[in-house]
Amino acid sequence: MTNPTFRKIDGKAIAAEIRAEIAQKVAARLEKGLSRPGLATVLVGENPASEVYVRMKRKACAEVGIESFGHHLPEDASQNQVESLVAELNADPRVNGILVQLPLPGHLDEEKVLQTISIEKDVDGFHPINIGRLAQKGREPLFVPCTPYGCMVLLERAGAQIEGANAVVLGRSNIVGMPAALLLIERNATVTVCHSRTRNLPEVVRRADILIAAVGRPEMVRGDWVKPGAYVIDVGINRVEDPTRKRGYRLVGDVAYEEVKEVARAATPVPGGVGPMTIAMLLQNTLRAAEIADANENL
Ligand code: NDP
Repeated sequence: MTNPTFRKIDGKAIAAEIRAEIAQKVAARLEKGLSRPGLATVLVGENPASEVYVRMKRKACAEVGIESFGHHLPEDASQNQVESLVAELNADPRVNGILVQLPLPGHLDEEKVLQTISIEKDVDGFHPINIGRLAQKGREPLFVPCTPYGCMVLLERAGAQIEGANAVVLGRSNIVGMPAALLLIERNATVTVCHSRTRNLPEVVRRADILIAAVGRPEMVRGDWVKPGAYVIDVGINRVEDPTRKRGYRLVGDVAYEEVKEVARAATPVPGGVGPMTIAMLLQNTLRAAEIADANENL
C-alpha cells in the first residue's frame, strides 16, 4: 500500500461498540425499574432472504437485552390482516418498535402498511411523517432510517468533518440515498445527489470530500473517481461470481476498495462496513422508542 494515511472504517467493530453501549443502557433501564424495550417483527410470506434478516434482527435484540416478538403471516395474507396486526402492535405497550420486513408480497400496498405504523414505533424510520420531518428545516424526525443513520455514525466515528464538506451521494432510493442526502444536509454539508441519469459521474464524484455510494453496481466507483483524502462509505452489497469460493460467489460493494484505499483518507470495506451498522442502528432506534414511551407515560 502506498497511501500511509489511509484508515479502514471498521463497521464491524463500531457496530459492536454500539451494541455494547445499548446493552449497558438497557441494563441501566431495568435497574431503574423501567420496562425492557421490545421490538415486534412482521414477516409476510416465505422470502428466504427476509427470513434470514428477521432472524438476524431478533438475535441481535436478544444479545442486547431487547425483547423481540416475531409475527409471521402467510404469503396470501390480506391487506386488512397485515394492517390489523400492525394496529394491534401499535396498541401493545410491550412493543416499542414495529419492523415490517420489506419487500411485502406484490398484492400488498407497502406504503399503506408503513403508514399504519404509529410514528412513535416507526423504528425503521420509513413512515412518511418521519421522512417528511427529516426533509424539513428545523423539524426533527423521531427516527431516522437505519442504513443512512449507520453511514452518519461511521463518518462521525471515523472523524470526518461533515460541516461545510462537499458530499456526494450516489443513489436516490427512499431507504438509503435520499435519507442519506437529507442527513448530510442537516449536518451542514453541501450535497450533490447522483442517479442513473447523472452526466459525467466520475467528474462529479471527484469533487466529494465525503462520498456515500448506494447504487447496487459492483465496484462501479474506481480509484481515479475519488478525491485524495476523501471519506468513502460504501453501502452496496453485490454478489459477483467467484469459482474459488465454496458458495460460488463473493460479496463486493459499489466501490473498488483496493483502488480507493490508495487515494482516500478512509473507507468502509464490504463486507464489514455499513452492513453490521444497519442492525445496530435498529437496536438504537428501538431503545429510543422505549425512551419516547417513558416520556409519553410521564406527560
Ligand atoms: P435501489 O436500486 O433502490 O437504488 C439504486 C440507486 O442507484 C437509484 O437511485 C439509481 O438511479 C442509482 N443508480 C443505479 N445505477 C446507476 C448508475 N449506473 N449510475 C448512477 N446511479 C445509478 O437500491 P438501494 O438504495 O435499495 O440499495 C443500493 C445498494 O445498497 C444495493 O447494493 C443494496 O444491496 C445495498 N443496501 C445495503 C444495505 C446495508 O445494510 N448495507 C441496506 C440497503 C441496501 P435511478 O434513481 O435513476 O434509478
